[in-house]
Amino acid sequence: MAENIRVRFAPSPTGDLHVGNIRTALFDWAFARHTGGKFIFRIEDTDKERVTDEYIQRAIDTLKWLGLNWDEGPEVGGPNGPYLQSERLHIYKEWADKFLASGAAYHCYCSAEELEAERERQRQANVAPGYGGTCRNLSNDLIEKYKNEGRKPVVRMRMDDGVTTFVDEIRGEVSFDHKFVPDFVLMRADGSPLYTLAVAVDDVLMKVTHILRGEDLLSSTPRQIQVYKAMGLTPDKYPTFAHLPFVMGQDNAKLSKRNGEVSIAWYREQGYLPEAICNYLALLGWSPGDDKEDISMQELVELFEVKDVHSSPARFDMKKLEAINGDKIRALSPEEFLIRALPFLKDAGVIKGADAEINLVKKALPIIQERIVKLGEIPAMLKFLFVHELVIEADSKEKIKDDQSKQVLKRALEVLEPLSVWNHDSIEGALRTALIDEMGLKPRIAFGAVRIAATGSHISPPLFESMELLGKEASISRVKAAISL
Ligand code: GLU
Ligand code: ZN
Repeated sequence: MAENIRVRFAPSPTGDLHVGNIRTALFDWAFARHTGGKFIFRIEDTDKERVTDEYIQRAIDTLKWLGLNWDEGPEVGGPNGPYLQSERLHIYKEWADKFLASGAAYHCYCSAEELEAERERQRQANVAPGYGGTCRNLSNDLIEKYKNEGRKPVVRMRMDDGVTTFVDEIRGEVSFDHKFVPDFVLMRADGSPLYTLAVAVDDVLMKVTHILRGEDLLSSTPRQIQVYKAMGLTPDKYPTFAHLPFVMGQDNAKLSKRNGEVSIAWYREQGYLPEAICNYLALLGWSPGDDKEDISMQELVELFEVKDVHSSPARFDMKKLEAINGDKIRALSPEEFLIRALPFLKDAGVIKGADAEINLVKKALPIIQERIVKLGEIPAMLKFLFVHELVIEADSKEKIKDDQSKQVLKRALEVLEPLSVWNHDSIEGALRTALIDEMGLKPRIAFGAVRIAATGSHISPPLFESMELLGKEASISRVKAAISL
């Protein structure tokens, strides 16, 4: 690799990180790992009203949980820190002062009302909105007057007439006519920086070589380039940009809470595996060239190329994510599946964690591994094994109150009680002979009633295995209890 590639993920955690953020983080990470470069994690927390310490911590936890380890950033530090923008305010101030001194920027004294009046005039005249340059060349007298009035200026960047052109690695050549990029604010009157100043200064000082980020930030690029120029960078030193396609919801609208853009924390709670989320998100806007859809982190690192990122929007598909999650669950080793399952069972209060409970969980997991899509389904599926007083679900209860069900359960009891060997073969044999062969019932009817009696629900893991795990004594007493409902 000729250059030392440095990529950053720079979220503003104003909430939990969501699908769009994480897709960006994943691509940044994969690109850094693929090229042997560095992955920098920077927190853009200058908006202290909206970015909270809790959200910052959760962003850190989410990246860790997904396995997107960073080389420089919070917790690990690095030579270009600090990595929280709120700890770098003096740096932005220094640069804003330099820009004022060089004339790249100027003080703007316009009040909010004056700016609004300007926008109103522009609306009336049907011209593009934007700052017209009122304060570009203020006379000293006017500056004195404003100061005497107690006005506090913002720092505004001067955009020359012209065009900013750059090559986006995904979109090709992109141009912005400065007619549509008016002079913009770098620093508020209270000395706090705006995004454009902080992001550009940090990318330069942190020696970022590649900026892979969402397409929504494309239009901020000419302003960032203006900051690079003011910092004295020549175009060959600008970072390379690659703007990732939007992620659309299933309904083709931009992703929102309604159609899938919920926080990654939510997916974690539901029992999506980090490797499934990464696999699925990797396919949102990228593909390794063939139809391959099962991608491990290692393969992602091996195969990820920016040139394979599509420029057209990607569409979020919950069904596909679920399918991938189910596949990844099935691919877990028994040991690994146990490790992932236990927290869900504990959090749901199904088990406390005693050895005997864990042993039973170990035996039960193989019978559900094929059947679940999310780890969050495990507690409901295995609860029947751990409750002393089985509570039958209301709708299931109704299904076994009729005469036929009572007959089925009585007959089941008769053939189960004498069994000396209690395993799924003997249970199945006894029930099939008695209920299907002799009573002539359909399996759904016959076994359905027993299932509800034993597990409390008409949806359960495979019946005979479930009863084996439950044990003879508990199974028998549950069937008895159901008969006397
Ligand atoms: N902090 C910005 C955001 O969360 C992204 C910065 C960037 O990638 O340039 O939207
Ligand atoms: Zn002004």
